[in-house]
Parts: sequence; C-alpha cells; structure tokens
Amino acid sequence: MHVLITGGTGYIGSIAVEIMRTQGFEVSILDDCSTGHADSVPTGLRFVAGSLLVRADIDQALEGVDAVLHFAGKSLVGESVEKPELYQRINVDGTRNLLDAMKSAHVMKMVFSSSAATYGEPKEVPIRESAATLPTNPYGATKLAIDHMITAESKTHHLSAVSLRYFNVAGAHKAERGWLSERHNPETHLIPNVLRSTPNNPVRIFGTDWQTPDGTCIRDYVHVVDLVNAHIKALETLTGTGHEIYNLGSGTGYSVRQVIAAAEKATGQAIPTQDSPRRDGDPAVLVADISRAKQYLQWEPSLGIEEMVADTLQSFQ
Ligand code: UDP
Repeated sequence: MHVLITGGTGYIGSIAVEIMRTQGFEVSILDDCSTGHADSVPTGLRFVAGSLLVRADIDQALEGVDAVLHFAGKSLVGESVEKPELYQRINVDGTRNLLDAMKSAHVMKMVFSSSAATYGEPKEVPIRESAATLPTNPYGATKLAIDHMITAESKTHHLSAVSLRYFNVAGAHKAERGWLSERHNPETHLIPNVLRSTPNNPVRIFGTDWQTPDGTCIRDYVHVVDLVNAHIKALETLTGTGHEIYNLGSGTGYSVRQVIAAAEKATGQAIPTQDSPRRDGDPAVLVADISRAKQYLQWEPSLGIEEMVADTLQSFQ
C-alpha cells in the first residue's frame, strides 16, 4: 500500500514514516517544513516540500497514493490563542484543500490526527468519544471543525476515514540513523522541558491551584510508537465508507508534578522547577477512555511514562 504522510517531517509524522517504511509500506511525504525537519526524511522516498495551501503541491504528492495519514498542521494551544487565524488557515483551510484534492485523485482513505482538545473541559473523566465537544481554545476548535468536515465528506463523497483523538504524545523512536524525537523550537511540551530544566532556566509549572489532588494539571501521556501503531491498525479498518473516531491515550492520568517525579527517578537528579501562572486555554484534567480503540482497532498501548521519559532522555544524548 502507498501511503501519503502529510507532516512527515514533524515529530509524530517522521516516526510514522520510519515505522511504516520498515514495515513495507510505500511512503510519500508532503511537508512545508515550517515546524518539521527535512533532515529526518530517509533517502529513497518521494518528498514534496510543499504546502497544504498550494493545490499543485497536494496533487503532486497524491500521485499513485492509496491512503493519506494526515498529520500536518499547527498544534500549539498557546499559539492558537494568540494567532487563531493562522490555525484556521493551515488546519481547516489546508485540510479542505487536501480533501478536495483527494476526491479528484480518487484517494478515498484517510487517517486524521485529531485531538483531545476537541472535548474542552470534560464533564466526566475518563473521556469517551461520545462526550460533548466544547473546545476551550482555537487549536481544539480547528481539530473539531476538521472532524466535522471529514464526517460530511464520508457521507457525500464516500470517504473512508478515522479520526484519532490524541491525548498527550511523548517519547522518541530509535531509527538506524539515530533517534527521532521532538525538536520543537521553542519547545512547549512538558516532558522535554522537564528533562532540559536547569537552575538558571527551570521548567515552569503552569498553575498550582487547579482542582486536582496536587494542584497541577493532569494529562494522559501515550508513547509515540504506540500512537503510530494505532494509525497502522486504523488504516487496516478502512473499508467501505464512513468516519470513525477513537481516543488514543493510555487511560491513566499523571499530574505535572508526577511527570517531574518520574523524570527525577530516571535522571537520578532533582529537577529545578518554578511555580508559574496558569497557561491560557489549558483544561485541568484530560484523561482518555480508550476502550473504543481497544475494541475496534485491537490496539493497546504497551509503553508507559517511564519509557516515554527514558526514550526522550536518550534522544537528547
Ligand atoms: N506544562 C507545564 N510546563 C511546561 C509545559 C507544560 O506545566 O513547560 C503543563 C501544561 O500546562 C499541561 C501539561 O503540562 O497541563 C502538558 O502540556 P503540554 O504542552 O506538554 O501538552 P498539551 O496538554 O498542551 O497538549
């Protein structure tokens, strides 16, 4: 099967490229490298260094393709609060272009990187896919708008699609040519920031007065390799038409302080921290109910917070 991976030079996309090509998939990449890294692209793949906003780039990338894994997009909650129009343009308008191009090219299968941010502040935890979707930030709103767009596309144009609602993705993957990991600049994610914390530049804890047992936000962390494996399983379910939505997490929540404790255990050193104000757009608790993915994708995460911290640490060395 020939798969187009949009966003294939980014953190998750580059690891998907690596795992899928080693499993025998033919892989093409479409990425504008705005936040990704072209040096992650293995040799021998078709790599279109282009944009979702340029139809000719998408058409070129779709040639001969059977299915699309759509990772490309802007993904920072804080940035989305500051620049909602950027998120609308890249995420929503870009996906509209991709769906139009897929229809023209008769590519009818898609797995989309949706997000737990579509749910907003949940009424019940763990969160099921049937929960209300009331995003608390523009990032989540764009992911929800795309999910709705894909549902409509599956009804009117026979698309067969899965949206995977990621909770917090972490960890790294070792390829033969070295580690593939988060290389965001600036880095906003908790685990890399905790592991890079120094006395002069301590990791900030965004809010210590949340309604949680230790006052810090609780998130559900899932290893990037487990996450990519779920995409491959989702791809295998794409027959006929329709749009299914699955949460991907571990089903267990960790507070910011618990993540810091796991990092202290892994490094054997105290992590310097700085109590800081809450970050705009953050809900207090996000933990996934993953029973749907378990049942219909036959997927289960196999790596825990210790592996996520240890792999991230190794990828830095
Ligand atoms: N967080 C933090 N300090 C940081 C980065 C993140 O306290 O330097 C908190 C953040 O407020 C959230 C959790 O850690 O509660 C996970 O944030 P991250 O940015 O890693 O992922 P997100 O939940 O935004 O997808």
